[in-house]
Amino acid sequence: MKTKYLQFTETDLRKAGDLIRNGELVAFPTETVYGLGANALDIEAVKRTYAAKGRPVDNPLIVHIHDKSQIYDIASEVSPDAQKVIERVMPAPITVVLPKRDVISGVITAGLPTVAIRMPLSEEARRFLRAASVPVTAPSANLSGRPSPTTWQRVGEDMDGRIAAILCGQPCEVGIESTVLDLSREQPVVLRPGAVSAQFLGELLGKEVNVLTDPTSKVNSPGVRYKHYAPSVPMVLELDDDFDKLRDFYDEKVKEGYNPVLWVRNPLRYGDRNVAAMGVDDKAVAANLFETLRKLEKKYDFIIASFCWRKNSPYDGPAAQGVLDRLLRACGRNVI
Ligand code: AMP
Ligand code: MG
Repeated sequence: MKTKYLQFTETDLRKAGDLIRNGELVAFPTETVYGLGANALDIEAVKRTYAAKGRPVDNPLIVHIHDKSQIYDIASEVSPDAQKVIERVMPAPITVVLPKRDVISGVITAGLPTVAIRMPLSEEARRFLRAASVPVTAPSANLSGRPSPTTWQRVGEDMDGRIAAILCGQPCEVGIESTVLDLSREQPVVLRPGAVSAQFLGELLGKEVNVLTDPTSKVNSPGVRYKHYAPSVPMVLELDDDFDKLRDFYDEKVKEGYNPVLWVRNPLRYGDRNVAAMGVDDKAVAANLFETLRKLEKKYDFIIASFCWRKNSPYDGPAAQGVLDRLLRACGRNVI
């Protein structure tokens, strides 16, 4: 298949919309990461998404919309809490999980009775979704297990020849996937941390909102696949910003014959060792996270990352927990 590279012109947007309604796959920018879009009302198109990514079919897809009224077409119940989030927070890098209507197939939801819905803040994303006019399923536009793409060029690396078109927009501002908030239960819970924090949502709803899995826990819960966002070279994560430990680990890897890199927030301390800057505050770290992973794996053969998350640190805002979650998954929970 020859993949078309489309621009944000009226003609190309119309082409992108036509492709979606014809059952084809189109990658598009959002503020979080690039998505791989398919017509949510066309089961064959949705199945093609799983095939193009090599995605396990038990991993449900998020349905993307451009207008809040679409929520009521696909969700069967919108609780008062859900209404509050929809009215006050969306559009934003947040996904809400609600009970589904029959129009949403179990192929999308991995057989669950709920559907995940997101309205992107990105103007480009909403222009594309408006052109599509149907609700659009979209996982991240990478091969399953690989770091998510935050530029159209990275989408091309993984998806060229596998999908009909790539809409070439801006690099993604947020850089990590949306916060997934399950509002289908009695007690709202964050299933995946992102740029909209659990604390913010708790304050909005006037109740405690927990994050389902504590990302610092080293215990794997059964059935959860942690290998995700993985670079093509080995990676470890250090969580205390311990200079001596990082330096010694690096030197040990050099002795073993590796060409490692220290991916840290303060790269100046490490002399002439290979270093990469992770970014000062959590927003900068999130924005560059996946792009840097994809760069480092090409240049080095061992990644030693350090991310120290302290509650109330001046550098760590709402996205910090999301960053930690992605780093832990990227290294397969290989914490030193
Ligand atoms: P991705 O497409 O890689 O961003 O992954 C989408 C994620 O959204 C899934 O891995 C789930 O964690 C979550 N998700 C999607 N649909 C549902 C649902 N119906 N219930 C709970 N979580 C969902
Ligand atoms: Mg993904």
